[in-house]
Amino acid sequence: MSNKEFCYYFQVMTDCLFCKIIAGKVPSKKVYEDDRSFAFEDIKPQAPTHVLIIPKKHIVGLKEAEDADAELLGYCQLVAAKIARARGIESGYRTVYNVGPGAGQSVFHLHLHLLGGRGLGWPPG
Ligand code: AMP
Ligand code: ZN
Repeated sequence: MSNKEFCYYFQVMTDCLFCKIIAGKVPSKKVYEDDRSFAFEDIKPQAPTHVLIIPKKHIVGLKEAEDADAELLGYCQLVAAKIARARGIESGYRTVYNVGPGAGQSVFHLHLHLLGGRGLGWPPG
């Protein structure tokens, strides 16, 4: 990593809310953690289960993800499926990326919403 890249990532990690949560600098209700991912309760839950699954790598959002991130994105989906199984919500749940401000993305560290534990209408709002 070049000096310039290091400075960029250092700034991102000190500014980004979800990087701070991963680092334990901002408190969260942790649900799951491993070497690549971190999951925690959404602070403003929209369903009885509303967990955010994030890669430890700082990726801004789905449209900024690169081919090299493909495995990590799939991995986050599998972490969501494991949490859903553990919570007994497999009769119906949803995993969602809000992509861009027009879709409601408000935190610019990629996060997968896991929503369940209630009926989920379709189409979504
Ligand atoms: P989005 O609107 O798709 O970017 O989702 C961001 C989510 O992060 C929202 O559902 C927020 O309620 C949630 N959120 C924001 N700050 C925190 C926090 N400190 N701890 C847990 N969840 C948070
Ligand atoms: Zn981040």
